[in-house]
Amino acid sequence: MNYTIAIDLGGTIIKIGLLKSGQLIDRSETKAQSASGLKTQLPELEKAIDKMLQAYQLTTADVLGIGFSFAGLVDSSKNKILSTNQKYDDGPDTDLVGWAMEKWGWPLFAENDARMALLGEWQFGAGKEFSDLVMMTIGTGIGSAVLINGQLLKGKHFQAGNLGGHFTVNHKGSACTCGGKGCVEAEASTWRLPSLVKEHPGFNNSAMKDEEVLDFKALFHYAKNNDLVAKEVLDHCLSVWSAGIITMIHAFDPELIILSGGIMKSAPLFLPILQENVNQLAWTPWGKVKLVEARFPDSAALYGADYLVRSTVGK
Ligand SMILES: [Zn+2]
Repeated sequence: MNYTIAIDLGGTIIKIGLLKSGQLIDRSETKAQSASGLKTQLPELEKAIDKMLQAYQLTTADVLGIGFSFAGLVDSSKNKILSTNQKYDDGPDTDLVGWAMEKWGWPLFAENDARMALLGEWQFGAGKEFSDLVMMTIGTGIGSAVLINGQLLKGKHFQAGNLGGHFTVNHKGSACTCGGKGCVEAEASTWRLPSLVKEHPGFNNSAMKDEEVLDFKALFHYAKNNDLVAKEVLDHCLSVWSAGIITMIHAFDPELIILSGGIMKSAPLFLPILQENVNQLAWTPWGKVKLVEARFPDSAALYGADYLVRSTVGK
């Protein structure tokens, strides 16, 4: 039977899915302890997977393998984590393939989480019927992935297309967690937002000064209520995201940009503005690149993991 197990190891939440030929049959979520490493999470994962097998009365022979989505750079030819950025820092020393084989006798296929989500959206979601796609996920950080002519772009060191959040949009800008400065995510992401708001000269006169959580939900709320600081910071973020998206368009020549992440809950408030910026500023003589919302903002990587396993083992 062609079941697959999908694991999406995010910085804050770990999602586990049971799928069968592109259908998500069951899913569970646990809070991630990404600061304490990857190896310490494995027993939790084992428990959750065994529980799922039991609930659906499946044996290990019913499952084709594990698709493993990871928030870091991944060598998808060896199914090995190459590099992390302050999450699961023992990832490169963790033998995931050996773990899955020893525990259940399954093959494991690993891929970067942004690429995995793009595979899911391409096969089953917003990117269906297209062959050239860029996906950007705007959240705590900013992730990206690229599909060219029906193939995930990987590059010599498996990082091509993944670092859209680290394109420089302000060469005199703020320090980034990656070691660079003025990156898209150092200028406008959830981790950057609180300092961005507090550094605004008008902060002490803004209604946001009493807000405990300065996230994009709060920013959209106060901008809608005409708070001057919120409006200016939001304008700044929209202009940063537009610059990042236009650079992705110029670099990778997609037909469509798929946007995902927590901020998409407020998409009607800003997506038309981003689209207008792209229409005005991107050099695309063949037409306009459309920006669309991801269809599975919460589970694209699980669908992608299922597709990766099935397409790799030939089912
Ligand atoms: Zn950076």
